[in-house]
Amino acid sequence: MSLASLRFHSVKRRVAAADTAALHFGMSARLRVTVWNENVHERRNPIVAKIYPKGMHSCIADALMIDNNVEVRTATLHDPEHGLTEKVLEQTDVLTWWGHVAHGEVADAIVDRAIKRIWQGMGFIALHSSHYSKIFKRLMGTSCSLTWREAGEKERVWVCNPAHPIARGINRYFEIENSEMYGEPFAIPAPDEIVFISWFEGGDVFRSGCTWKRGNGKIFYFAPGHEMYPIFFNPNVQLVLRNAVRWAAPDAARWIDSCPQIPISEACEPLEQKGPRMHKEGEEGYR
Ligand code: ZN
Repeated sequence: MSLASLRFHSVKRRVAAADTAALHFGMSARLRVTVWNENVHERRNPIVAKIYPKGMHSCIADALMIDNNVEVRTATLHDPEHGLTEKVLEQTDVLTWWGHVAHGEVADAIVDRAIKRIWQGMGFIALHSSHYSKIFKRLMGTSCSLTWREAGEKERVWVCNPAHPIARGINRYFEIENSEMYGEPFAIPAPDEIVFISWFEGGDVFRSGCTWKRGNGKIFYFAPGHEMYPIFFNPNVQLVLRNAVRWAAPDAARWIDSCPQIPISEACEPLEQKGPRMHKEGEEGYR
């Protein structure tokens, strides 16, 4: 075989491998989304109950299911294990999260479980007051505090990058007639990308759509979604949610976190021990 044809064959093999990866997640397989909601305000506050009689999670799930390639399940705080069993998370490609009054009631074991899956590649969409959720704060490593005001003022959500997949279909900006103001400073680590910046009628601005990567997992924070206004019925908000879960879809390969000691005898090159050691051969590292 000539050098040129050898090169052609190896390129062909790489293309075939890439096709398989794409088929595995994006193209033919349906994206599995779990919509999580603490579902407390809907049960306690008559205004919220009237807007979302079946809970905010139902409204978000309905919005996502407009996309035929997405299958959605919902989970709430009061379900056993908050609805996030090992099995559910195992079968989840993207997890969306809405929490507010009951952040502290989310069990740490479930937070650990979700974060482990995010590191492996599960997408995570934090909505509105979830900036203060245990999961989001752990992922960010900062306080995630912000300024806020509940005046029912107008919010204008500006697109910062028209080419970003999460902003697809939004023309320059969209408006939410009544919103809660979330303003700067927003105590987050610098985002990988700022997709949206919001302007509020009272003059404040806020980085309202931001992305990060943690481990193998793609993370998107989206600020609109105050419980006292019907924001999750807004067609543009729904479009952003559909775009966001698509964007956050995992890559084909899962990164399983482990920390193995590679024995000297299994080094790639012949190797002899040259110094004293703390650990015995085969021993696990400290955690
Ligand atoms: Zn709110």
